[in-house]
Amino acid sequence: MSTLYEKSDSKPPSGSGSCLYDLLCSETPRWDRPSDAETTTSWFLRKEQKSSGARTRLERMLEESGNSVCADCGSPDPKWVSLSLGVFVCIKCSGVHRSLGTHISKVLSVKLDEWTDDQVDSLVNLGGNNVVNNKYEAFLPDSLSKPRSDSSIEERSDFIRRKYEMQQFLEGNEQTNCLHQTSSSTLRNASNNHFSDKKHSDKQSRHRIGQRFRNSWGRKDCDQLKSRHGEFVGLIKVNVVKGTDLAVRDMLTSDPYVILALGQQSVRTRVIRNSLNPIWNESLMLSIPESIPPLKVLVYDKDTFKADDFMGDAEIDIQPLVAAAKAYEKSEINESMQPGKSVASKENHLVKDGTITLTDGRVKQEISLRLQNVERGTLEIELDCVPLTQ
Ligand SMILES: [Zn+2]
Repeated sequence: MSTLYEKSDSKPPSGSGSCLYDLLCSETPRWDRPSDAETTTSWFLRKEQKSSGARTRLERMLEESGNSVCADCGSPDPKWVSLSLGVFVCIKCSGVHRSLGTHISKVLSVKLDEWTDDQVDSLVNLGGNNVVNNKYEAFLPDSLSKPRSDSSIEERSDFIRRKYEMQQFLEGNEQTNCLHQTSSSTLRNASNNHFSDKKHSDKQSRHRIGQRFRNSWGRKDCDQLKSRHGEFVGLIKVNVVKGTDLAVRDMLTSDPYVILALGQQSVRTRVIRNSLNPIWNESLMLSIPESIPPLKVLVYDKDTFKADDFMGDAEIDIQPLVAAAKAYEKSEINESMQPGKSVASKENHLVKDGTITLTDGRVKQEISLRLQNVERGTLEIELDCVPLTQ
């Protein structure tokens, strides 16, 4: 059943007992990825071809009048899209959209994500900012003014939640109070299964992150959906490249996947079956909160009938990267340079120095991590910091 689910790329049945993985599946975006039969090279080629035509159409769509400003706050030149809702939004509003969960708003970057024709088609079908706003703001009370580009995160968050999540201004008065109720109870079931497994109680501390996800998501009842995030200062695109010599958790091998957590957000990679040297090459995006917490990296072995097994974790201090990105945000320098590095030490879990590079105005860092709290395994990760002006 598990194999079928991996290949069909569909959502897992609720309460299937595969705990943390299921928990994350229901909240995080699924990315285009190579099928078993396809080589990585041909997958990239196919993606490139698809992406170029789709991107042209996407950029043409951005030029339409209503799409030249953020659908929620009116900031000019929005570079983010809610694929599920069909609106172009600014980076600040995109942070709020992302915190609604992907079951309500699936956010992609116009520039940084690879777009498929199907994705552009679905966006075109939704009609763009004007059409979507006519629907979701049909009954906007006169007393309520929309947020502006300089509005606080609280104002922005309040409006966006009322508009899309509670749908208070929707045409036809089709008010739905709690779109995510099903998803939320599914999460509770999944995580209850997970934590009822006594055998794993000694690993409780290892699962503390999962516990925290459950708590934060379990709380997602409508009246408690106050802003859980501060202001976002940017985005980080994390490419989980590969794992090397990972721990064995099944008979001879493991089915590893990686969870990335930053503050209260989390995303995860796909599962690679039967591999101790998995290659993911999978890019995942997270908003960077103002407080800049460490990026937590956790590796798990996917199990179908019991709780997923822990395969190590590590933390990455992303402050040097964000500081470099801020410093060079307005830089005109075009040639490559090295604005800094994270020197490898026992404390920071780095296998070698994580050099920060500036290439074409983008600040990046390659990280090689030694996994902690486990007998063996390293992980290669590339970080790409996207400043607020993107
Ligand atoms: Zn906005």
